[in-house]
Amino acid sequence: MTHPRSQALYERACRVIPGGVNSPVRAFRAVGGTPLFFARGEDQYLIDADGRQYLDFVGSWGPLILGHAHPAVVAAITEASRAGTTFGAPCAGEVELAERVVASYPGVEQVRFVSSGTEATMSAIRLSRAFTGRDLIVKFSGCYHGHADHLLVAAGSGLATFGQPSSAGVPEPFTACTRVLPLDDEAALEALFAREGGRIAAAIIEPVPANHGLLPQRREFLARLREITRRHGALLIFDEVICGFRLARGGAAERLGLTPDLATFGKVIGGGLPVGAFAGPRHILSRLAPDGDTYQAGTLSGNPVAMASGIATLDVLIHEDGWQRLEALGAQLEQALRPVLGRAPFPVHLVRVGSLFWLSFHEAGAPRTAEPLPQEAVLRFGRVFHALLSERIYFPPSAYEACFLSLAHTAADFERLAASLGRALTAS
Ligand SMILES: *Cc1c(COP(=O)(O)O)cnc(C)c1O
Repeated sequence: MTHPRSQALYERACRVIPGGVNSPVRAFRAVGGTPLFFARGEDQYLIDADGRQYLDFVGSWGPLILGHAHPAVVAAITEASRAGTTFGAPCAGEVELAERVVASYPGVEQVRFVSSGTEATMSAIRLSRAFTGRDLIVKFSGCYHGHADHLLVAAGSGLATFGQPSSAGVPEPFTACTRVLPLDDEAALEALFAREGGRIAAAIIEPVPANHGLLPQRREFLARLREITRRHGALLIFDEVICGFRLARGGAAERLGLTPDLATFGKVIGGGLPVGAFAGPRHILSRLAPDGDTYQAGTLSGNPVAMASGIATLDVLIHEDGWQRLEALGAQLEQALRPVLGRAPFPVHLVRVGSLFWLSFHEAGAPRTAEPLPQEAVLRFGRVFHALLSERIYFPPSAYEACFLSLAHTAADFERLAASLGRALTAS
């Protein structure tokens, strides 16, 4: 299948934008081929620059929990923008969205808005360091928290858990205060806190890790992390940028029955516009400027148009049984796909948590740690991806990315996916 308009746009883009994209995963490097350029989105569909319609399972990587161009969200954005796009001063929307977060998430009394998930985690970490007076932070292999320098770390080799920069341009001293642990490993957790617990400001984790496929954790592991951070006077940060307002009104925290000290939000909370947030109890958040001594700011933070988009999105979810319906849709998807996966000529497993799902091409079961896929499995995924694309189904262009359901998806969409996937798997 040729995509002349996408192809032409990509060639122009490559001249003026590095790699032709503004976020690397969009470039199709992990699956081969050239990326599609999209012109429109409607409900569960994306329409590319050549006018072809695709059933979308990416949902802009999470924000579009109501589907593309939901009328309530478009109306809210339109109305807000007519009243001015930014004031650089407070507006009612900030209060209204903050009140919804406070009413929804366990333990949260105050919220600060930013413009991306990256800013949310970066600021939550600064606040943890200010609050505890400590420098070290702990992250887990396979969890992604945006692209701040000190979070772009890979686990060191051997027994060392010192983070090594995982990107060029990050000086080693910038990651020297970051410790990296494997997921699913209480012993490693205990050992690190026994050694350095008194110097650890915070542990940050995706409570349902969804950036290395989907790696649902044992609740006991997360409960141990909650207990050990508390015991050592460190803060626990749940990075809910994907899970927040997706897995439940109270995010993964509600689903797991565990309350972190701080939570970070992004994606769903902006309903498709750039919004991030970090939140927690008043006695911690009050350390932020202007009340406290911890600097944090943003020209477009709490932007009225973005706030309106977030409010409209949350209100549809709240008033239309959104989370219950997403769970039911997830169950329907699972039912539709199971038989097809069972007949695949190689191992492929469905991992699902609510409206997040991942086709894992691992040999055995569903991993709980960030295992690399064998090269053969990565190549297979690429073939399956392109086979689905040729049947007008848009999957994330990487074997390590989870898929997203929205309220716009239907049981018929899942039957269509199952039929296409059946053909794709046998041909790949
Ligand atoms: C997407 C994501 C981020 C970064 O958010 P951006 O808005 O892309 O900066 C942080 N944490 C998690 C868990 C994410 O999935």
